[in-house]
Amino acid sequence: AAKESGKGAFRFYTADLKDDASRGVRIEEGLRDALHRGELTLNYQPLVDPKSDTVKSFEALMRWQHPDEGPISPSLFIPIAEQTDLIIKLGDWALRQACMDAARWPGDARVAVNVSAKQFMSSDFRKSVASALAASELPPARLELEITESVFVGDVEHVDKTFASLKRLGVRMAMDDFGTGYSSLGYLKRAPFDKIKIDQSFVHGCTEGGDTNPAIITAIVSLAKSLEMETVAEGVEAMDELKLVKDRGADFVQGYIYSRPLTHEQVLERLENGNLVFRPNGPPRYRAD
Ligand code: C2E
Ligand code: MG
Ligand code: MG
Ligand code: MG
Repeated sequence: AAKESGKGAFRFYTADLKDDASRGVRIEEGLRDALHRGELTLNYQPLVDPKSDTVKSFEALMRWQHPDEGPISPSLFIPIAEQTDLIIKLGDWALRQACMDAARWPGDARVAVNVSAKQFMSSDFRKSVASALAASELPPARLELEITESVFVGDVEHVDKTFASLKRLGVRMAMDDFGTGYSSLGYLKRAPFDKIKIDQSFVHGCTEGGDTNPAIITAIVSLAKSLEMETVAEGVEAMDELKLVKDRGADFVQGYIYSRPLTHEQVLERLENGNLVFRPNGPPRYRAD
């Protein structure tokens, strides 16, 4: 549209781009200091078994409180960090912090940590995982690593070797945002995932009047079952969505319907009180974000 509406509009358009680019640079610079300034934290969102409404694991989600700009979303800063090696530092920090936190939880809830492709492919990733486990004394089976299909565009031999060595360590592997890439099925065949997270985009539009056929959810669940993998429906917000994914056999549900991401203090308080039940659509007692 900018191209068609004359010279003035075009200038405006490029000025916008330049602003975006310098914002990117500012964010990258800020991110370099964010770690040692203590501006990064992890919040934890419950993954709930919809049959009993009890929490089985928590996904660690990075939060950045910028001193001038306020909270910055990971969907903005993670891609910027991924353009440089910064993601490896940030990812390593998240891994260690999440293991330390989870090791303090009473009970056996797992912790899931997001791992970016660059971090997964870095030469000492297996070592970082082993060292985070050793330092925290978290049992490997309580750690789950979430990777996306973007990992699989890397060198085949290296990806498969890393995947296998992580499984040998005893950690669990989850495929995040399943169904959004080009070759989800091919990757499932190649790598023995423990869990498949059905992307939000399939969940959101799946009820009355939506634009996703709910048969897709049924198909993913049945495929996963036959491969002996667990399924998670991501981004469940409404009661009718919960009913649908539950009826169609999703093992776990993650979404605002049960809870937004919580601070670690909120998680600890709940677990220490033995309060493992999350009521769907319950009052928003916790609002970490
Ligand atoms: P993700 O791994 O797919 O995480 C799920 C995202 O969905 C989170 O967004 C979560 O807050 C959001 N979500 C959960 N339930 C609902 C819901 O019911 N409705 C809606 N609309 N959203 C829901 P968040 O925390 O903003 O994170 C965005 C992405 O940033 C993550 O997507 C992940 O790809 C990345 N990310 C976050 N933390 C890390 C990290 O420590 N390392 C890496 N590499 N990436 C991270
Ligand atoms: Mg994730
Ligand atoms: Mg996801
Ligand atoms: Mg995502």
